Amino acid sequence: MNELTNKVALVTGGSRGIGAAIARRLAERGADVAVTYARGHDQAHAVACEIKDTGRRAIAIEADSRNPDEVTGAVDRTAEMFGRLDIVVNNAGVFTVGPIGELGDEEFAHTMAVNVHAPYAASRAALRHLKPGGRIVNIGSNVAERTVFPGFTLYAMSKTALIGMTKGLARELGSREITVNLVHPGPTDTDANPAAGPNADGIRAFTALERYADAGEIANVVSFLASDEARYVTGASISVDGGFTI
Ligand code: NDP
Repeated sequence: MNELTNKVALVTGGSRGIGAAIARRLAERGADVAVTYARGHDQAHAVACEIKDTGRRAIAIEADSRNPDEVTGAVDRTAEMFGRLDIVVNNAGVFTVGPIGELGDEEFAHTMAVNVHAPYAASRAALRHLKPGGRIVNIGSNVAERTVFPGFTLYAMSKTALIGMTKGLARELGSREITVNLVHPGPTDTDANPAAGPNADGIRAFTALERYADAGEIANVVSFLASDEARYVTGASISVDGGFTI
């Protein structure tokens, strides 16, 4: 299935984890892909090389999501480099957890910059380039729907903001035939939440499927939303969480 042939995608935080899986899946379906990273230079370039080996075009762009100008620059550079931009996946995120009394203004600013301001800035910049059929897919979290553990106030707040952003933007861009959706992953085996981590059994127990997701299972749903098949889906929050929130 090559439904994304001739499309160009930007995936923020595409050096590893869910973002890398999304980048690979979009490329498998025919898209040319740019990924951003902050620290993972080698990993991001490895993802881009892997994609190029499959015959697609790919680029890794250093763009720290704490800085909206860098995010905006990555969007414009992708469009300039590939001549168009069709799909933006706002995936880069920081998983800041702990009792509210221990998370100060610095953690607040960092978390909101990466998880909220960066998707806002990327989406705003993308509007200069997206044409009818364009796609914005935001990556939220199951904890925006169901916050079962203490210590998630800041992270859940940041991810919940994406629900409002997704709905507002979907309404704003509908007349341009651009869809905007939000995917809430559940526990997914990545550096941020390893399936073999100390808290994994407790987390796993909240899922109906009694297991973590592989990052590719999140990427499957994102690539569907990016495709023409999903053209009537907009403003939706879609849980891909193994039943964590039921
Ligand atoms: P990882 O920690 O494995 O990867 C995070 C990615 O985000 C990396 O590519 C990282 O790049 C990038 N990133 C982090 N900070 C910045 C920054 N300041 N600027 C640019 N890029 C940055 O996380 P996951 O793959 O697990 O998470 C991906 C998304 O999915 C996040 O939004 C997360 O909140 C969400 N999510 C994950 C869940 C899970 O269980 N794994 C569950 C629910 C939601 P670099 O390598 O350069 O640091």
